[in-house]
Amino acid sequence: MQRGFFLGVPGLDVAALRLKFRGSMLGTGVGDALGRPLEGGVFRLVVEQPEFDGRYTDDTEMMIGVAESLVEVGGFDGEHMARTFMRNYDPDLDRAVRRYGPGPPTVFRLIERGERWDAASRRLFGGEGSFGNGAAMRIAPVGLLYFDEPEALRKITEQSSLITHAHPLGVEGAVVQAYAVALAVKSKPPSLNPREFLEELEAFTREEVYREALREAALLLDERADRRKVVSALGNGVEAFRSVPTAIYCFAANAESFEKTVLYAISLGGDTDTIGAMAGAISGAYHGEEKIPSEWVRKLENADYIASLADRLLELKLKQQ
Ligand SMILES: [Mg+2]
Repeated sequence: MQRGFFLGVPGLDVAALRLKFRGSMLGTGVGDALGRPLEGGVFRLVVEQPEFDGRYTDDTEMMIGVAESLVEVGGFDGEHMARTFMRNYDPDLDRAVRRYGPGPPTVFRLIERGERWDAASRRLFGGEGSFGNGAAMRIAPVGLLYFDEPEALRKITEQSSLITHAHPLGVEGAVVQAYAVALAVKSKPPSLNPREFLEELEAFTREEVYREALREAALLLDERADRRKVVSALGNGVEAFRSVPTAIYCFAANAESFEKTVLYAISLGGDTDTIGAMAGAISGAYHGEEKIPSEWVRKLENADYIASLADRLLELKLKQQ
């Protein structure tokens, strides 16, 4: 591959991409682990010294599963990815640390009993499927692998989401999040224009719910809204459409700093680990590994393994060129 091959973005060579791939996956872990102790709380105006033991939750564990499956297969295989999630799932660790929602373990049991990988999740919520943020929270590796192939990004995101989240709004949340990661990879700091970033996402999504939320995010950006207003307008819940736009806003409003983005995300309360994970994935993809506070990375559980997975994902990307 030639230097600067990707879309002719100056400086986006293999070395820069490696930092960005690592940054996005470590950023997911760091945001998740920082948000973990605050999950379910109300927002705090300032989080100066977050409590942080480096343990991550289901968000990062499933993000690892997505990456493992992509690199083991050399691309997407739904059955393999579902089995990888199941291989990584440990009920004792779930109760103590990972705290999966009720959906994935139910899906795992159904698949274990013979249900197809893309059919089990349709049985949840009275046949509607879940519109929770569980498909979006883990999607960073798909956004990375397909960052310059928007159609493949959408297709693989949709399919990988179906393993656990069948509702169109759960799936589209993952698409919007994956595309946010992709745009962040393609942007070289400090060149990203937060408003244009939101507009590009708005143009990409096919669901009006997300278009509206992204337009709202742009207004909040213009008026430098306070946290209370951000939470009431965009949400901080477990629904994909009340957390993916929020995480995107956290990044857009604090694009200059990974640290600020993640601290802001977890200060909003609610589903802090997931909003932290998603905001961290985008900001990490933009700034790269080196801009994540090294103390946070040092403390993060399995950080070396996550970084090595990011490297393998990049190797796969380069092989596919
Ligand atoms: Mg979680």
